[in-house]
Parts: sequence; structure tokens; C-alpha cells
Amino acid sequence: MEHPLYIYNSLSRKKEQFIPINPPFAGLYVCGPTVYSEPHLGHVRMAITFDILYRYLLHLGYKVRYVRNITDVGHLEDELSGAGEDRIEKKARLEELEPMEIVQKYKLAFQEVLKELNTLPPCIEPQASGHIIEQQEMIRKILAAGFAYEVNGSVYFDIGTYNKKYTYGKLSGRKVEDMLSNTRELEGQSEKRSPLDFALWKKASPEHIMRWPSEWSEGFPGWHLECSAMGTKYLGTTFDIHGGGMDLIFPHHECEIAQSVAANGVEHVRYWMHNNMITIDGQKMARSLNNFITLRELFSGNHVKLERAYGPMVIKFFILQAHYRSTLDFSNEALQASEKGLIRLLKSFEVFSSINPSNHSTIDIAAIETKCYKALNDDLNTPIAIAQLFESVTAINLLAEGKETLTKEDLKQFKGFMETVCFSILGLRNDKNTPSENSLEKELIDLIINLRLEARKNKDFTTSDVLRDKLAAIGIILKDTKEGTSWEKM
Ligand code: ZN
Repeated sequence: MEHPLYIYNSLSRKKEQFIPINPPFAGLYVCGPTVYSEPHLGHVRMAITFDILYRYLLHLGYKVRYVRNITDVGHLEDELSGAGEDRIEKKARLEELEPMEIVQKYKLAFQEVLKELNTLPPCIEPQASGHIIEQQEMIRKILAAGFAYEVNGSVYFDIGTYNKKYTYGKLSGRKVEDMLSNTRELEGQSEKRSPLDFALWKKASPEHIMRWPSEWSEGFPGWHLECSAMGTKYLGTTFDIHGGGMDLIFPHHECEIAQSVAANGVEHVRYWMHNNMITIDGQKMARSLNNFITLRELFSGNHVKLERAYGPMVIKFFILQAHYRSTLDFSNEALQASEKGLIRLLKSFEVFSSINPSNHSTIDIAAIETKCYKALNDDLNTPIAIAQLFESVTAINLLAEGKETLTKEDLKQFKGFMETVCFSILGLRNDKNTPSENSLEKELIDLIINLRLEARKNKDFTTSDVLRDKLAAIGIILKDTKEGTSWEKM
């Protein structure tokens, strides 16, 4: 490949050329949401980041299997110690619903918001509760390999034994000795051999609702296990890319690596990618800090921090104007600046139609394209790619003014490049309608107006009225003036 894609691998802490295990196939697993609340900006940054990766891999010609899970069981309140109430069960108690009603409600909310944001659905969206058998099977493998032990109906991962053969902490860069000296002994940890050991299977307490039978106890799987089990099931024992938010590196992804390596005896993932957080007033936006803004609030403007409503594409463009590994600070000013930029970018597609081709080109289209793709190949540097799109907008305006010229072929090439990057790769959408839909619509309506004009010339007023009324019925209103017939949408 002439310009290979480089991605930053959190495991090696450097940018590496992306070489899939089994080209042209590429496997991508992303940790999706725990569905117990309305999706907020932090959730969608994850989804948008990996949507761009998915779209770009498709653009490069890979056959991608994109798996993004739904966590609906085992995510307890205290992620570090693995203690506390199940988040979904707690919400179910508060809303007086079944846990699976909570799952359905917020899973749909999440999917709806992502559709609004024009992200592509993953190829598989597996739920943890639908893969209990696979998770139990993995526990048996880990037990058989000697990296787990059973106590009182619960099964724990044995970090001490694992760390003799492999390295626990290699993704987060933490050392077992340091972690041990920093760990407080918490309630419920007494049955573990080490406070770092984490649950693969937990015996359910009498009040726990989501429970399944097993040879160890009636219980439920540990939170980290689902991703190991479903990643292996759908992408293989070693797969190409694993993504998620940076806050998942420890303990979630660290534990996932340990489980998969212990069960399968091979490397789990080649490239680990993590998106950074969204901040608000300099603090991480998180449900636990209660400083989050949901997407529904952004779409409606109904939140104390919001000066007004923002459309889905504005929010997406705002997120793409920062590199995914940088923090992104929320502010009304930044969103409004993104909105202005987005309007300017989308308007340029209308300007294209007014540019007349010339017999020579004064702009080097290839150079602009190269710079843009170079940025995308450099660990998906969307802000630099977008800067190239704005350079292109400047060029388009100069072309429209006749200050620069392009041949017919170059003009077509230029427009194709802009459309590919804006719509296929960045997944933007012209919310009034896409430019191509607009022009097709215009052509079709003009065609009908001309047919009506013909009918009137022939004094066939029945046909002319039928055409006018039928258009009105679908919301297209014709206006006859001295200059001719114009139209507008209701
Ligand atoms: Zn996960």
C-alpha cells in the first residue's frame, strides 16, 4: 500500500503500521455502553471515534467485522474492587422496572442517538446476558489452565499465578507490587487470595435478580469476562484491533487481556486503541461525577450549561475537530464555532454547481488530497484532515469567483474527493438533505414543471392541474409568476 495506515497502539505506546492478521479481513472489537442511563457526550465520543476507524478501514478496502458489545450484566458499582450493586439492577429498582426493561430502554436510546449521529451500526452487537454459556466455558478453561480458583461458589482470577508466567499490567503500565501496596482491603475481598484478584463468576446474593445456574453456584459473570468471551467468539483467539474509552484501560482491559491469555494461551489483541475523555469545566464528564450532558439535552438545548440546542452533525463535527487521543473540552463557544465551520463546509457543495470548467487547472488537487489522506493515515488525525477540507473550501470559493480554474476532469475529481471524505469517511450528513439528493430532487421537480408548462401551452388544463395538485399533495408548492414557475417545499 502506498500510504499505509498508522495507528497508536496503547500496548506498545507508539504509532504502528496497521497490518491485519488475515488481510483483507480486519477484526475490530469495541467496548460498548453499560445500558442503564441516557447516552451522554462521553459515550458518543467513543462511538464516533470507532465509527471513523470502521469507515476508514472500509474505505481502504478492508472487509471489516466490527463488534461492539452491550453490557447488561455484571457491571457493579465499584469497578476497582468489583463490589456493590449491579448498575442495571440498581436502576431497575429506582425506576421500578425489570432489569431487562432497563436494558431494552437504554439500549434503544443509545442506538437511536447513534443513528441521529449518522454512525454505522456494528456488524454484531452482542449482549453479555446472551453469552452466559460462552462465559462459563471460558471460566472452565481458565480453571483448567490453573489461573483461577473457586471459593464459596464464586470463581476468582488468580493474578499471582498468572503473573508468574505472563505479565499482568502490561497495558496500563502498572506493576503488581505497586498495585498491592496501594490497595485497601475492602469488605467482601476476604475470600480472595489477593486483593487484586477479580471475579470471573460471582455467587448471587439472595436479593440479586440476574442469575444463572452453574456448577459453582447460581450467580452471574464478572464484568470483564463478557468482552473476552464475545471477542474470542466473533473475532478469534487473537484479533486485530480492540477499542474503547481510556477509562477502560484499567481494570477492564487489563483483566480482559489476562482472562483471554489465560484461557487461550495466545496473545489476545494486536492493536489497542483508546479515545480520550470529554471534559467540562476542566473535569472529566462522567455519570459518576454527575456533570454530564446527554445527547437528548444537546438536541433540545434543555440543560443549564447549554445556551441553545445543537444538531447531531454539529456535535459530531465538534468531536471530530479534536484528535481522538486528546481531551476535548465542552463549551458553547466551541460548539457554535463548529456549527459555523460545518455550515461553511456543507455550503461549498452547492458552490460546486456554479463553477464553470476551464481548459487548464491552476490548483493542484492531488496535493490537497494527499495532505488530507496523510492526516487520516497518521492515527486518524481528523482535525488536520478537516483543516485540509477548509483549504478546499477556500479553493472552491476562488474557483466560483473565477480567480482559480480547473478542468472538467479535475473539477469532478475534486468534488468526488470532498464527498468521499465528508460523507463516506467522516460520516457527515447534510441535515436538510445530502447535496446529491438535493440536486436530484431539483432536477425531477424541474422536469415536472416543464411537463406542466407543455400541457398548458396545449390548453390541456386537466393535466396541468393534476400535476400541480399531486405535487402539492407531497408538499411541493408551485408558484406561477411572470418570470416563470418557482417551487418551494412545505
Ligand atoms: Zn469491554
